[in-house]
Amino acid sequence: MTEIEKKYGISDIIKKGIGVSSGIAIGKIYKLDSGHLDTPSFCYMDKSYIPLEIKRFKDAIRQSKKQLLNIKKQIIKNGKGAEHVPIIDAHIMMLGDEKLVKDTIKIIKDEMVNAEWALKMVLKSLSDFFSRVDDVYLRERGSDIEHVGDRIIRNLMGKKHEGISDIKGDVIVVSHDIAPTDTIQMTKGNVLAFLTDVGGRTSHTAIVARSLEIPAVVGLENISQMINDGDAVIVDGTIGTVVINPSKDTIKEYKKKKKDYEDHDRFYHKYKALSAQTIDGHRIKIMGNIEMIEEVPSIMDHGADGIGLYRTEFLYLNRRHMPSEEEHLKAYKAVVEKIAPNPATIRTLDIGGDKFISLMELAEEINPAMGLRAIRFCLKKPDVFKTQLRAILRASAFGKARIMFPMISGIDELLAAKALLEESKNELRQEGKPFDENIEIGMMIEVPSAAIIADMLAKEVSFFSIGTNDLIQYALAIDRGNEHVAYLYEPLHPAVLRIIKSVIDAGHNAGIEVGVCGEMAGEPEYAVILMGLGIDQLSMNAFSILRVKRIIRHARLSEAEEMASRILNSGAVSDADKSLINEILMRNN
Ligand code: PEP
Ligand code: MG
Repeated sequence: MTEIEKKYGISDIIKKGIGVSSGIAIGKIYKLDSGHLDTPSFCYMDKSYIPLEIKRFKDAIRQSKKQLLNIKKQIIKNGKGAEHVPIIDAHIMMLGDEKLVKDTIKIIKDEMVNAEWALKMVLKSLSDFFSRVDDVYLRERGSDIEHVGDRIIRNLMGKKHEGISDIKGDVIVVSHDIAPTDTIQMTKGNVLAFLTDVGGRTSHTAIVARSLEIPAVVGLENISQMINDGDAVIVDGTIGTVVINPSKDTIKEYKKKKKDYEDHDRFYHKYKALSAQTIDGHRIKIMGNIEMIEEVPSIMDHGADGIGLYRTEFLYLNRRHMPSEEEHLKAYKAVVEKIAPNPATIRTLDIGGDKFISLMELAEEINPAMGLRAIRFCLKKPDVFKTQLRAILRASAFGKARIMFPMISGIDELLAAKALLEESKNELRQEGKPFDENIEIGMMIEVPSAAIIADMLAKEVSFFSIGTNDLIQYALAIDRGNEHVAYLYEPLHPAVLRIIKSVIDAGHNAGIEVGVCGEMAGEPEYAVILMGLGIDQLSMNAFSILRVKRIIRHARLSEAEEMASRILNSGAVSDADKSLINEILMRNN
């Protein structure tokens, strides 16, 4: 009887967490002892020992730095995961953080206590600070401080910092938390999957897992205490579940699911190098949606024609102060250079609504989705806006950058945004700072009023990108985050399709390209219908790219057009059209 059976006496115990990286893994648990250190005990020091204690603390910092530099060297040598080196650099920087170092030394001196205890006090006040911060992304940065503190304490206590590289054999790693420096050392070879008690979708650890394509479930609360080394588990990173102590039947069922998943992956693999071209020779562009530079390799690996939506909000979330122009520039330049010669469509700040940023102290609004969000906020804060615009312009000197304005609801807003862009260009010209004079300016169509006057707006921009996530919310009056009305959120609602069609026609009449960058673009069935409506470009997450390419390559433009026209006119997807979509999905070439 395994420990877990002794503990629970049953099989198939299901724990639900947040699936942050897709895939299925079946294996035995390896508990990584890197997240949870017993609190070091408090110890008074004789005054004569204080200098020694400070030296011991400084030595531990030096040793921690050496360890991190070694990990960095190893990653660079292996040639894999180099894009994550900045995370290690950030940890190295934290080791020199004034607050961390000076405050700890001050506590050792003033309170005559041991270094472990002093450091623990400082870490506690830092982590209290982070836990009070409202935005999720910034709150998760608190865990980086904890990882760094944990490493110093281990070195102070002479405890080995057990790393992923020490693991032998295929295992499912479980830990209270896993430091990004550990995740980076994972390879598809030595770790089948990983599970943590804490964390969320935007933690660095989750991002790294996605880019390495290792299944991962986080936010499992107490999983690291529930299970032990050698316990059998099944991880489904796609839906975020863990089956502890699976029965024979469950293992059989998941082995089949895993095979299907892998066959699927192999099956889609060949589409990486192929374009989204229909049987009758019509080609549309497939672009990627990203939020951070770390996601660019995955987009490229799936053969995207560029970045159709770079949501820049994360740049603002990951910090306590507004990003400077140089910081913006660094981020955009890296993305633009990496995706070159393909374009990177950089969307200006879309704050507000469900994307709340604490550092900006936005006033509480009764109805934030219709409040001071996105371009409205930027036009109210021209300095904040121009800092970003200048940086995007400057990044355009390093590749093909395109600027995109979100949430435009009328012509005046668009003209005001363009005027600030023009001002920024003039400043840069005067300062002799280079940028692409022909940079394309586009806008999102996600407010119904913009869709209705798309013909007027089209004269002012080089492209439209339809943000169906918001457009559907506003057109059907359905809060996109409200589960009670989620059943009404219908991308194929005839009103939505008519709006999309009219925007495409208005764009084409003015000779500009029209794309979709909302979630709808990444659903293969919807992608065919959007193509039938005349869309030129679809932008989506990396996972959807191959699936959408496949369905487009097996469809004919003529049948997609006929289907789109039938749905537009009848107001519903008939059974015959559902069968047609299924038939296209089943086609082989
Ligand atoms: C959209 O609204 O469809 C969109 C792509 O923007 P976001 O999801 O960032 O609001
Ligand atoms: Mg939107």
